[in-house]
Amino acid sequence: MSLPVVALVGRPNVGKSTIFNRIINSRVAIVEDKAGVTRDRIYARAEWMGHEFILIDTGGITLDSGEIEEQIKAQAEIAIDEADVIVMLGDVTQHMTNMDETIAKMLYRTKKPVILAINKADNPEQRTDIYDFYSLGLGDPIPVSGSHGTGMGDLLDAIVGEFGDKANQHEDGSIRFSVIGRPNVGKSSLVNAILGEQRVIVSNIEGTTRDAIDTTFTNDGQKYTIVDTAGIRRRGKVYEKTEKYSVLRAISAIEESDITLLVLDASTGIREQDKHVAGYAHDAGRGVIIVVNKWDLPKKDSRSMKDFEDTIRREFQYLDYAPIIFVSAKTGQRVPDILKLVKEVHENQTRRIQSSVLNDLLLEATRITPTPLVNGKRLRIYYMTQVAVTPPTFVVFVNDPELLHFSYQRFLINQLRQNFDFVGTPIKILARKRK
Ligand code: GDP
Ligand code: GDP
Repeated sequence: MSLPVVALVGRPNVGKSTIFNRIINSRVAIVEDKAGVTRDRIYARAEWMGHEFILIDTGGITLDSGEIEEQIKAQAEIAIDEADVIVMLGDVTQHMTNMDETIAKMLYRTKKPVILAINKADNPEQRTDIYDFYSLGLGDPIPVSGSHGTGMGDLLDAIVGEFGDKANQHEDGSIRFSVIGRPNVGKSSLVNAILGEQRVIVSNIEGTTRDAIDTTFTNDGQKYTIVDTAGIRRRGKVYEKTEKYSVLRAISAIEESDITLLVLDASTGIREQDKHVAGYAHDAGRGVIIVVNKWDLPKKDSRSMKDFEDTIRREFQYLDYAPIIFVSAKTGQRVPDILKLVKEVHENQTRRIQSSVLNDLLLEATRITPTPLVNGKRLRIYYMTQVAVTPPTFVVFVNDPELLHFSYQRFLINQLRQNFDFVGTPIKILARKRK
């Protein structure tokens, strides 16, 4: 469940974002022929030979101020803190520079595996020039060309070769949840309030090398793990204040949880940044609970809660499945209900519905609302079956998958929600052609 994290480091212009895009197969061109291009994607899921991992382009995380040297040191530190495998990139056309040496020296300090790749080795002569880089003391350099895509297979083999058996952890029956939100909404206060009553069992994760701390406890016979409590309780390195870094941390926490608590601040209302954070939570396909914190602050009457709820539903339409809870970390109001809700959502996201029950539902649903005609051709649904949980995923066997449009898919999802409790979890429907 917890994916290995791979970070790319190297001085500006060595080709980090080019290699990043190669690896994630993105068609988005954010590379231009000039130094210091701005990039918006610094974090992505990638896959090689069946190994999934998270890739970070540390070059995309820049401090608000600071010399180039400082920026690069901060980026190398992020790699050391966040990654399970670090890839240092060099540029064969520039040979080795002092800055490369500075980065290499920082990387010596880590016990994490470091892979040295030398980019822009576009032709055979350049591939022999990479031997300079042996003196960095980071092992055999792998020649690659981000532009041409050569050497990428060797690099990816080396990366996944370092993963070991990191995958397949967390089989301890614990419900894993993360607490995310923009700064100052009260994440850290909420975690303290939730943990206040609990006897904490462990406060670390075995087998991971990342600088993240997970906190596990038992409540009412159920184990829970709060993912990355260290990231929630700020520690105060310079780069931790940068927005990209906190986004990175939030996304990686979401990826590693079953359920995400999206925290909003009742005293400030909904801001643009809340919507970004909500978008990440939704995209990940995990369970989501919207927690409105600081409910002790606003002046309230009998309509306040309903009004706030309406605003949330309007602003976060795609999160229509997420329950909303109004709490105060300060007074403790409804804080105990959070875990009850987490448990319920977990039951819902792991719910399995028998095929016979699903097909009764399908028969009834298609009777009320017949399948659509698309260009004179009618969609026929023969059979429906659940293929996965977290999130609940259903396959419908049809005459032609192209005919299952969004609106009918939406209708089927609503039918499922009306008949079964799927509160807090997204539902996926996939269409397959019946052979
Ligand atoms: P970053 O600052 O490390 O992320 O570097 P970029 O990915 O933005 O690349 C910097 C420059 O190097 C851009 O002009 C790229 O087009 C160029 N570049 C990247 N990879 C290669 C490569 O394999 N060969 C050559 N010749 N140029 C490359
Ligand atoms: P974080 O940045 O999201 O972790 O937010 P913090 O937990 O550090 O809280 C930010 C500020 O809001 C602090 O001054 C807290 O004391 C305050 N705060 C947090 N929760 C509540 C609450 O429920 N009610 C009130 N009145 N203040 C709160």
